[in-house]
Parts: sequence; structure tokens; C-alpha cells
Amino acid sequence: MLTDRKPIKIHEAIEAVLKFSKEGEIEYIPIEESDNRILKAPIKADHDIPPFDRSPLDGFAVRAEDTVSASSANPIELEVIETVGAGGLANSIPQKGQAIRIMTGAKMPEGTDAIVMFELTKEIERNGKTFVSISRKFIPGDNISFQGEETRSGDVLVEAGRQVEPGVKALLATFGYSKVPVAKKPTIGVYATGTELLDVHEELKPGKIRNSNSYMITSQIIKTGAIPRYFGKLVDDFDRCFEAVKNALEEVDVLITTGGVSVGDFDYLPAIYEKLGANVLFNKVGMRPGSVTTVAEYNGKLLFGLSGNPSACFVGFELFVRPWVQIFLGSKKPHLQMVHGELKSDFPKANPFVRFIRSKMTIESGKVFAEPVGLDKSGVVTSLANSDALVVLPGGTRGFQKGDTVTILLLNGEGGTAIYKEKRS
Ligand code: AMP
Ligand code: MG
Repeated sequence: MLTDRKPIKIHEAIEAVLKFSKEGEIEYIPIEESDNRILKAPIKADHDIPPFDRSPLDGFAVRAEDTVSASSANPIELEVIETVGAGGLANSIPQKGQAIRIMTGAKMPEGTDAIVMFELTKEIERNGKTFVSISRKFIPGDNISFQGEETRSGDVLVEAGRQVEPGVKALLATFGYSKVPVAKKPTIGVYATGTELLDVHEELKPGKIRNSNSYMITSQIIKTGAIPRYFGKLVDDFDRCFEAVKNALEEVDVLITTGGVSVGDFDYLPAIYEKLGANVLFNKVGMRPGSVTTVAEYNGKLLFGLSGNPSACFVGFELFVRPWVQIFLGSKKPHLQMVHGELKSDFPKANPFVRFIRSKMTIESGKVFAEPVGLDKSGVVTSLANSDALVVLPGGTRGFQKGDTVTILLLNGEGGTAIYKEKRS
């Protein structure tokens, strides 16, 4: 059993994990299925937008020179010779004194150089002809959306590494990306260990608890964009756990186990890593919860040994597994987004190590606040459901008070580039 455990700093642990990061391959998927996927290639404009000079409103396409003498005292009248809708093209070229009725999005008719909106005109029927009365002067270019004014062919509009969101999807469609180049998802295996674990459909029995970690972790895996592969739960039996871990590793990109990584009599993961011949990157991190988080590498694949304590397991995933997945997917913001805000209530506990507190973030009058939720113990599961942030309290501190400025990691943020780093050496 491993007893020599020297805690390493959080950022060192994250960096050790990310030494084994790699980017996944590209795959092309239908645009309809591309939501939340990460682009592997930039979106480039393959044509100008607008692709032609067009009318941005419903009105009349005119020759500006015909309107030079127009005023409210002396309106001018132009003969309306045709109507063009969006998608249509004018058949005629207006001559002096003529105009074309035009709808939003239609191509500017040849010979016209300004648009007069309906609201500024009056239509008149006379002798079976239609005339439009205009009481203001227009100059060439008035109210025209010019070709390429929004985007030029060849422009990079969205960089690789961005997630497909509604606005990004609109661009994919605009430029004909019926197939979208995205990062292939890694497969993350999950095993829950513990003789005490019951399945979700099982009745509670004395001494037993329901396995919540594997559900929580598969959900975290999905949320960060990977494919979970849940192998089931294992009783604390060395040989069975060893075989299971060894076999599972062959079928996934990364394997997560929960539980069995501490120093108890039935915590077999450290011995399993040893028998496997895996290279243990660290087996103790200077943090609460999750100090026993252990990560090992075997043939280039990572084995994340997360604590069985639900809160510790959750934090371990977010700090260590999430960035690995995000990098695999090509994200430029693999870490939890870090902001600063005000603590909303006292947190009197001393912090020998850096502490991550499940919290609820709010924005009030433009200011960020975070309020710790529920019991702050690593075995607690209920607080997780009500938190959307982790308040980070530095190690070596004696507690914090309401109003103190603290670092906050956002669980639902857009991701960040920086790793949390302790200030003290
Ligand atoms: P361990 O890390 O195996 O020492 O487990 C630490 C604590 O977490 C114990 O109280 C376990 O019963 C609990 N635990 C372990 N695995 C799970 C799980 N999959 N779901 C919920 N609680 C768990
Ligand atoms: Mg256990």
C-alpha cells in the first residue's frame, strides 16, 4: 500500500496531467448535429455578404438625380414601372422619371442608385399608371446594402476551437457548410468502486448507499463534450478490480475510477497502478476536497483515480479531467472560467490547503457574488445540485468573511485559459 504521499500543488498536478494532453482527429458531421461541438477548422467566407448590392427596406429604387429638386413644398413624381421582390430580378432599366417598387433583400435594379422607403412616399394612380411622389432629395448610395459591406470573400469569421452556438451555426449555413469540421469526441470510461454501492433501482440496505458518482461523472463527461462509457461498479476485490481496469483501459481514451484511492484497507487502486506498471503522476494534491486524487499514465493513456466522496470526485473531474477533454476537442479555453467576486456569507473554517467550496454565483447590480451552499464536507452530495461555481480559498488562511473578495471558478462558464495558481510558495 502507498503510504508515502507528498501533496503537490494544484497547478502542478494540472500541468502534470496536461503533459499527456493531445488533440483529437477531425471529423465531418451534418450541420444539424453540430450544436455544442468544437470547430476544428475556421469558418471562412466563400463569398461576399451581401453577395450583391441590395435593398435593406421595402420602398422604391430610384435614380438619385431624379430627386434633386424634390422638397415637401415641391414633391416630384416618378412613374413606377415594375415591382421586384426578394429573390427576383428587375426586367427593365428605369429611365429618367421612372422608379421600381422594391422589397427588402431584392437586388438593386440596374440604373438605380438609391432606395426611398415606403414611409416617405405617396402612391398615386393616374390614367392606369402608378406614380410615386417623393418630397425629399436622395443622393447616390442612400439606403443601399452594398456587396461585401458585411464580409468579404476569404475573411475568417470564426476561429477553430470555438463551440457551435446559434450564431456560429447561422454562419455555417450562410457559407454552405452542410458538413461541419469538428473534433472527434474522446471516449471516457468510468468504473465506480466500492462494496457498499447499490444500483439506482435497488432498495437501500443497512451499510449500503446508492452509487451516485458514476451518474454524476457520466453527466460531467457529456457536459464537457466527450462520450462516457460506463463499465459498471466493482466490489472492493483486488483481482477483480485489476482485471476490470486493465481491460477497460484498452477500450477507452481515458479511464476514470471513483473510490478506492485512499489509504484504507480496501483501497486497491494504488496497488492496481503498481501492478499494471503505470506511471503515477501524483497521488496527493494540496486541496480540499479531493486531496487523494491520483492520476497515473499507462502507455500514454491516463487513469484518473478520483475520490469516492462525491464532492471530491466532482471537483477532481472539473480540475483535472475537464481540461484534458477540452484540449482533445481543440478548445482554446480548457479550464474553468475564473472570475473574482464578493463572498456573500462568512466562511469561518481555516484552510490548511486550498479549498474549493460549492457555491452559487449571482450577479447583482453588475457585481459578482458567490454564496457557499450546503455542508462543506467532501462526502456531501446534496450541495452539488445547487452550485454553479466553486469558490477558491487559498491554503494557509484562517477563514473568510462576508464581503471578502474571492476567486470563483464558474462551472457553467465559457471556459478559461488560466490555471488556478496558489500565490504562496
Ligand atoms: P472511498 O474513496 O472509496 O474511500 O470512498 C469515500 C466515500 O465515498 C465513502 O463514504 C463511500 O461510501 C463514498 N462513495 C464511494 N463511491 C461512491 C459512489 N460511486 N457514489 C457515492 N458515494 C460513493
Ligand atoms: Mg471505497
